[in-house]
Amino acid sequence: MGTIVIKFGGSSLSTTDKIKQAAKRIANYKEKGKKVVVVVSAMGKTTDQLLQLAEQITENPAKREMDMLLATGEQVSISLLSMALTEMGMPAVSFTGWQAGIVTEKVHSNARIVDVKIDPIERKLSEGKIIVAAGFQGVTEDGEITTLGRGGSDTTAVALAAALGAERCLICTDVTGVYTSDPRYVPQARKLPAISYDEMLELANLGAGVLHPRAVEFAKNHKVSLEVRSSTEDEEGTVIEEEVSMENNLIVRGVAFEKDMTRLTVFGLKNEITGLSSIFSELAKSEIDVDIIIQSQTDGNKTNLSFSIKNKDRQAAVNVLESQKETLGFESIEYEAGLAKVSIVGSGMVSNPGVAAQMFQVLADKDIQIKMVSTSEIKVSAVVEEAKMHAAAQTLHEAFDLGAVAEEVK
Ligand code: ADP
Ligand code: ASP
Ligand code: MG
Repeated sequence: MGTIVIKFGGSSLSTTDKIKQAAKRIANYKEKGKKVVVVVSAMGKTTDQLLQLAEQITENPAKREMDMLLATGEQVSISLLSMALTEMGMPAVSFTGWQAGIVTEKVHSNARIVDVKIDPIERKLSEGKIIVAAGFQGVTEDGEITTLGRGGSDTTAVALAAALGAERCLICTDVTGVYTSDPRYVPQARKLPAISYDEMLELANLGAGVLHPRAVEFAKNHKVSLEVRSSTEDEEGTVIEEEVSMENNLIVRGVAFEKDMTRLTVFGLKNEITGLSSIFSELAKSEIDVDIIIQSQTDGNKTNLSFSIKNKDRQAAVNVLESQKETLGFESIEYEAGLAKVSIVGSGMVSNPGVAAQMFQVLADKDIQIKMVSTSEIKVSAVVEEAKMHAAAQTLHEAFDLGAVAEEVK
C-alpha cells in the first residue's frame, strides 16, 4: 500500500469549515487505499498574530521563547483536523513535530531538519490511522523546540515524504499550482504544468512564496515527487521534477520578486588583500545575510563596495561596520532603502545569450532604473525601486511571453 503525504497551508485551514473541507479531501485519498500522512500549518494568520503578541511584550524576545510561542499555532490545527477526520469515521491521530520525530539542528527560528525518526508514525500508519503532523516545528537532540523559518511546513512535508518513501508529496494551497509569476500581482500569470527542481529552487529563493526554498532543496536531494495543487479544486497542479523541457520558444520559465531590500555602500575602503573578507566576516558574525555584492575600483589604494541586505538587518549592519570603522579601514557608509529585487528564471537562458540585455532594455523602456544586477546560469536579478517592483514584474512577464499558452514540446 503506497504512502502519500498531503500538506495543507494556513489559508486552507483558516476556519473550522475549511478544516472540515480539508478532512473530506483527505478522506478521499484514504478511500483510494493509501496510507495517508497529513502535514498542516497554523490556521489562517495565526503565526502573524503570535508574532504580534510577542511584539507587545518585548522588542527583543529570546529566540528560544519565540519558537516555543510560534510552535503552538500548528498544535491547534493538528488536533482540530484529527477531530474532524475521526468525526467522519476516519480514525486519525495528531503528532507534534517532536512526536513525529522531526529532529533539527540547534538553531532557533530557522532550523534545518537533520533527521526524521519515523518509527512512531509508521506504527500508527500500520494500525490504519491517518497521521496529522505539525509542520514548521522540530526538536533538537537535547529536547529544545525549534521552528524551520516562515513557510517551513512545506519542508516538514517533504522531509516526511522522503523518510517514509512516499509515492508523492502534495502541497495543497490557495492557488492551483506554481504560476509563471505570483498571480496575486501579475494577473496574466498562468499555471505551469511542470517545472524543474533547479528552476523552482531559484524562484523560491528569489521570493516566489508558493514553496519554502528548503522544501525544494530537500525534494531535489531526496528525489521526492512533489506537486503543488489547490486545496479545494480537483484540477491537476504543477509537478516539480528533475528535467522539464522548455515550452515552445520560451527562454524564461517565471518571474519572481522580493521587497524590503537595502543597498549599503562602503566608501573609501583601503584596498588591502583582506579588506573584503574582514567586512563580510563581521557581517556574518552578526548573522546578516548579504545578497548581491559589487566592488568598484576607485583608485589604486581605495575602493567602493556596495551590497544588498534585507531592510530588517540594516541597522545592525550599519552598527557593526561603524563600530569597526578604524580596523576595517573605510571612510563612510551610505544606504538606500525602499528597494526590491525582480528576477527572471529559466533553464532556457543557458544557451541563449542576450537575455540579460533584453531584460535591461525592457526595464529601461519603462523608465525603471536598475541599481544592482546579479546573474547565474538560469537567472538574472535586478534591484529596482520597491515602488516599481510590480510594474517591473508585469513588464518582464509580458516581454518574455509568459502569458502565452505555449504548446508543450516533449
Ligand atoms: P500556504 O498558506 O498554503 O503555505 P502561501 O501563502 O505560503 O500558502 O503560498 C501560496 C501563495 O504564494 C499564493 O497565494 C501566491 O500569492 C503566492 N505565490 C508567489 N509566487 C507564486 C507563483 N509563482 N505561483 C503561485 N503562487 C505564488
Ligand atoms: N505557520 C508557519 C508560517 O506561517 C509555517 C507555515 O505556514 O508553513 O510561516
Ligand atoms: Mg506557504
